[in-house]
Amino acid sequence: MALEPSNSDLPYHGLYINGAWRDAEGGRAFTVTEPATGAPLARVASASIADVDQAVAAARNAFDHGPWPHTPHYERADILHKLAKMIEERTSELAELESRDGGVPLRATTFNDIPLGLHMMHVFGELARRSPYEPLPWNEFPTLAWSFVWRQPYGVCAQIIPWNYAFCMAIWKLGPALATGNTVVFKPSSLSPLTSIALVKMIDESGLLPKGVVNLVTGPGGETGEYLVSHPLVDKVAFTGSTDVGRKIMGIAAPHIKKVTLELGGKSPSILLPDADLEKAVDGALFGMFYHAGQLCEAGTRCFVHSSLYDEVVERMVARVRQLRVGDPLELATDIGPLISFKQRDSVERYIKIGRDEGARLAIGGNRPVGELYDKGPYLEPTIFTHVNNKSRLAQEEIFGPVFSVISYDEIGEAITMANDSMYGLAGAVWSKDIQQAVEVAKRLRTGTVWINDHHVLNPHAPFGGFKESGIGREMGVAGLLEYTEPTHIHVDFQQKRSGKIWWDALLPPLDDE
Ligand code: NAD
Repeated sequence: MALEPSNSDLPYHGLYINGAWRDAEGGRAFTVTEPATGAPLARVASASIADVDQAVAAARNAFDHGPWPHTPHYERADILHKLAKMIEERTSELAELESRDGGVPLRATTFNDIPLGLHMMHVFGELARRSPYEPLPWNEFPTLAWSFVWRQPYGVCAQIIPWNYAFCMAIWKLGPALATGNTVVFKPSSLSPLTSIALVKMIDESGLLPKGVVNLVTGPGGETGEYLVSHPLVDKVAFTGSTDVGRKIMGIAAPHIKKVTLELGGKSPSILLPDADLEKAVDGALFGMFYHAGQLCEAGTRCFVHSSLYDEVVERMVARVRQLRVGDPLELATDIGPLISFKQRDSVERYIKIGRDEGARLAIGGNRPVGELYDKGPYLEPTIFTHVNNKSRLAQEEIFGPVFSVISYDEIGEAITMANDSMYGLAGAVWSKDIQQAVEVAKRLRTGTVWINDHHVLNPHAPFGGFKESGIGREMGVAGLLEYTEPTHIHVDFQQKRSGKIWWDALLPPLDDE
């Protein structure tokens, strides 16, 4: 990402602070390029520390002195549904933008990613209808009292998202924060910020939110992002990205005891039980692995196959992968687009070498596809390694690219043990015709989500998040909503008789007339 002066003909997007679009300090900006071709797409303002200060101050002021935290929850719900309507009118435009910006095939952005973001926004609207009042059981000890919990918004939230699934990630962050009355300073990844910027533009155009409730700062993670999460006026950090950066953010948040929720990396298992329906399980596991070219946190990158099926499954997988079309993400016929960057492809290729060196067998792929189109972007063939050792680096480290490890097991218990033998615990899948057995396996996986006979299907009513080093806290569903609130217990004294008061039993002398 190069910093450059504001003198280009490309579309330009500024920072959005306190309800107004403006340049970054000194006119700093960077160029966003299409991964598929390297062609420049837009120039985007690069926020300095002073810009972040202003964004945080605007969010602080809107929270401490503005109407938003006290706006009735049902009015916030209506606003989120209105924003969803605006998204709905622009779904095909957003799908193309996401495909250009993130290199994601149009097939995926059109049929899943953007409609899913829209659906999520509606669900956050529904969840916003949940009253902040939570009754508690009637209390008689040590005195008669009516108690309830009032859920307050947390405050100023710093929200940082990665480059993958960018539009959905933006909704995951803004939706629950707004549903519960928080104010936000939001930073998308510099590699794919354009659909997030489009979303903030819709929020601005709608005029539905008071000034300073949503602020957008774009810029480099190590500078803009790190300063944002360290800011003393930020109350909560909601971060989605790599485990290494998440670890760093947790440390940065510690001095101010900021609340932190982290959605981090994964190395999710996909377990084919001996009775799996191979027609479905093979294609499903491949979808779990190669959707978005394997650049999804919950991708099922380790496939555990019963030894009785192993050779047949590998043969079927290789045959199906041969049919996958790697190509221009803007062609609807394309199944797999480029990776996000040449740097990312270099990193994935290093893992392919590690896999070979560790003795895993390359069943298919491992190379860059050849042809004029492929010279322009960081393309890579979908790759399957067989005979992988679950202890190897190939099976333990997050690769974030189209590299599948297929591992054999003899007993179901052994598959569960290997599946859980990972620093990560984000998601997993079980493939079986016997649903009772599949559920028993699912209950033993130490992961935040388990799909049975499916993968990647995100239900915005369900909590999403990770065990172990895959994260802290949950997003989506009621659990995700509550992460954006602080509970206040309100105790209302109901004891009318003096004799029932704990004060006179436990501390004070009785009154004179007793
Ligand atoms: P990344 O950690 O490099 O960057 C994520 C975001 O953090 C970006 O906006 C970046 O600019 C910012 N950032 C980088 N350094 C920072 C710092 N020191 N302080 C503050 N912000 C900083 O991740 P990425 O490469 O953009 O995304 C891929 C990773 O995200 C993978 O590990 C993937 O598993 C993870 N991911 C997790 C989920 C989930 O829900 N668990 C979802 C999507 C992606």
